[in-house]
Amino acid sequence: MSYQATWTNEKINKNETSKLKTDGLDVFKMLPDLIKKPFPEIDKSYYMYFKYAGLTVQKPQDAGNFMMRIKVPGGILTVAQATHLAKIAETYGHGYIDLTTRQSVQYHWIPFAKLPEIFAGIENVGLTTTGAEGDITRNVIGNPLADIDRNELFDTQPLVDQVNQRFQGNRDYSNLPRKMKISINSNLFNAGNAEINDLAFTPATKLTDNGKIQGFNVKIGGGLGAMPFLGLAMDIFVRPEQVADVSEAVVSLYRDYGYRRNRSHARLKFLIKDWGVAKFETKLRALMPDLLTAGHDEVIGWSNGTALGLHPQRQAGFYYLGIGIPSGHLAAEDFKAFVALAAQYGHNELRLDHNQDLIIPWLAQADLAAIQASPILQKFSATDQTLMSMGTTCTGAEYCNLANAHTKELFEPLFHTLDDRFNFSNPPRITLTGCGNGCAHRAIADIGIEGTTGKTLMGERVEAYKLSVGGSLLNGGHFAIPLKGKVSQIQLADALTAILSDYQNHKIDNENFYNY
Ligand code: SF4
Repeated sequence: MSYQATWTNEKINKNETSKLKTDGLDVFKMLPDLIKKPFPEIDKSYYMYFKYAGLTVQKPQDAGNFMMRIKVPGGILTVAQATHLAKIAETYGHGYIDLTTRQSVQYHWIPFAKLPEIFAGIENVGLTTTGAEGDITRNVIGNPLADIDRNELFDTQPLVDQVNQRFQGNRDYSNLPRKMKISINSNLFNAGNAEINDLAFTPATKLTDNGKIQGFNVKIGGGLGAMPFLGLAMDIFVRPEQVADVSEAVVSLYRDYGYRRNRSHARLKFLIKDWGVAKFETKLRALMPDLLTAGHDEVIGWSNGTALGLHPQRQAGFYYLGIGIPSGHLAAEDFKAFVALAAQYGHNELRLDHNQDLIIPWLAQADLAAIQASPILQKFSATDQTLMSMGTTCTGAEYCNLANAHTKELFEPLFHTLDDRFNFSNPPRITLTGCGNGCAHRAIADIGIEGTTGKTLMGERVEAYKLSVGGSLLNGGHFAIPLKGKVSQIQLADALTAILSDYQNHKIDNENFYNY
């Protein structure tokens, strides 16, 4: 299936003019010549194209280093792939790898001149940076526990792979108004974070003349960022075999009708806000007339796609182990130790969840004691749900050009302090971001911390933080409510302590933060 592009917006922004002349995927043709130049001589108009190769120019901008993101569809890695990811960190990335909230991995300090050999190595293990950023369909996310999950209708990883393949390198869909995020999940606890994706397939059942069938309902137009929107339900039911075609039809509508005048008003959510879901659905049904009306929604809760701790798999006798990685920032040598555990005891596989954590599946009951005694699991928590393991953070001021405040360096000392002060059986989820964008999902956190700036009494401009509370994707979702005022970095631990103490002292039994 392929829908011919028909978009005719008359007024378009500067990026759109460039993309009309040169497709974003042509970045790979540009790179060999660009690499021959000293980086400061490269015109900044190329920076937009680098994104299509998963590359963002890192601070300071003239130094020629990149943040590089690699897509991992559904978050599933083989041991060979994970071994290579560790090697990239050791060889080019100053020894570290970062796990993201969309089942991808990122590096910093990637040197411009080494990109050809880095890309060749990534391709060699069946991964890619293509489309990890840019105005294109991004990493397709899914249930981190697909196929091993006791709480899913059916295995959705084949569909994640199919949709990823449909768009990978596909020039029919490489010039979108902005990014397009797709989630495919049949876990009953919304492990795919449906409402914060542009297009989300959620578990549903439908009574038909042939009996009850399993498939998906669909939510459309979600997204975080400075103006967050929750995805809204369409009145359609999608059979598993229709998922790739529906994805393509939706992306074609976004390509053709999405706004291209102002980039901060170009995500699909703005089109849905203006059109309403019904008009979008009418357009979709014109392309796919056979779609049934929505089925029974099977979602019964929200897990944030987090899978910490040791749990039995759907397959009797096997367990998966979810390991909290503080701020998702992992030394290559530690990552290699986890890969070695997966190679020795698992089924050649590691997984990434939506909370910047690692999962090792397929562990046999007989091996669990040996696994839990391994040195790497003395260093990382795989049993406790702590504020640290539940927390997430974005890149922040150390590397991100948009950040107002630091995050990753702050994360561990801050969360150590909080974990020393509290011991929750069901810890609230706290996220720390360097600005008002949505990279660490601040708007759906129990407590969101947003980096900003403030002035001291002496008039000095310093990093500061705004707080918000009560975000969740339970029952269709609710964004965190901002609290008044700002706190300085040294006030942050005490401000969070005051909020957490209130929760601890007033919650009823195991009431979670959102309900309290
Ligand atoms: Fe950068 Fe802001 Fe995203 Fe953090 S949330 S990585 S500071 S853009």
